[in-house]
Amino acid sequence: MPGFEVFGEEEKKQVLDVLDTGVLFRYEFDAQRKGTYKVLEFEKAFTTYTGAKYAQAVTSGTAALKVALTALGVGAGDHVITQGFTFVATWEAILDIGAVPVFTEIDTTLNMDPVDLEKKITADTKAIIVVHMLGAQARIEQIKAIADAHNIPVIEDTAQSAGGTLHGKHLGTFGACGTFSFDSVKTMTTGEGGMCITNDEQTWRCMSEYHDHGHDHIPNPGGRGGEGRSFVGFNFRMMELQGAIGLAQLAKLDDMIAGQKANKALLKNCAKALSGVSFREILDHEGDTATFFVFMLENAEHAAAVNACLRENGAGAINWGENCWHFYPQWENLLEGKSLCKNGWPFTAGGKRRFYHDPQALPASAELMARTLCYPIPVKMAEADKERLLNALEKASHI
Ligand SMILES: *Cc1c(COP(=O)(O)O)cnc(C)c1O
Repeated sequence: MPGFEVFGEEEKKQVLDVLDTGVLFRYEFDAQRKGTYKVLEFEKAFTTYTGAKYAQAVTSGTAALKVALTALGVGAGDHVITQGFTFVATWEAILDIGAVPVFTEIDTTLNMDPVDLEKKITADTKAIIVVHMLGAQARIEQIKAIADAHNIPVIEDTAQSAGGTLHGKHLGTFGACGTFSFDSVKTMTTGEGGMCITNDEQTWRCMSEYHDHGHDHIPNPGGRGGEGRSFVGFNFRMMELQGAIGLAQLAKLDDMIAGQKANKALLKNCAKALSGVSFREILDHEGDTATFFVFMLENAEHAAAVNACLRENGAGAINWGENCWHFYPQWENLLEGKSLCKNGWPFTAGGKRRFYHDPQALPASAELMARTLCYPIPVKMAEADKERLLNALEKASHI
């Protein structure tokens, strides 16, 4: 799963290229940097790899979501629909721009349920964030068609599925904008970092300017200090060191995915013996990045018994239903409207609560999550780990 498993000479060489110039900033210092522009090069490599026309590197996957939403003109009071199974960053970005997160059920893809999405669209819906969770595709073609019919832009949170495809097309290139994370546990990593991709030049310009305090990046005699600005921005700039590591990691991404696929296939083959087991619906196995292996049991009790046995044998699986960072009913800070802001923003404005989220609002997802178990898949799996996992799954098949 994490790209740090394959750190090697390539990453070191890239980083030393940057340190040799002494320039860590992605802009300016033209004479001193001797032609080294790692972040720019990384953006170009990312467009070549994904097939998107434009890429904008940023500081994190969370920043990428905020930059994408802002570039698409979404802001305070707007509603943004996403799914109730995702990392907290997805709705943190929505809250951070003052918008209201609205959550859909997930289906057997463990991603957004298009039927529920359709029910939740209102006149206030100004964007949809589809998440390609756990390495595999959401029903993005269907969701895009629904969104198009309502004229609502789609952002694909591809933080967990870099390198994934659906029917030969890269995840992140279906919607108005795709966002990626390169944090320390993602398949390709730069420690911290993120990327936004789009095919629309205007959207890219807005992202580029917004992420750099509004700088318009138009060459002028005054240099950076002489640049103009069309709107207010913020600072989400990626550093040269991250761009350098990103270049080395991107070159290894397909090999990492191939390693994960082989390890996942081993586990899946063994898990077939579990009684009543079914597998997460993968829309296109070819395009799966295999960062996780997900299987479902018949009900919550059976899943708990199977997991107890797996734990006893040193190979406990993740049950996302119990996990407070990824599943809606466990997000008590969101549900209870807890904020550092003394006036209660973004949950309260003018002394009045702006919106509520009912913990029971996603019953279909809760039922599914309670009987779902999951293993993260490493790029390299030691023989001893393989044996332990396969042995535990074999033991659990008698339950
Ligand atoms: C990791 C992750 C993010 C946030 O990325 P950071 O780089 O850690 O800020 C956003 N969405 C999902 C689904 C993630 O898994």
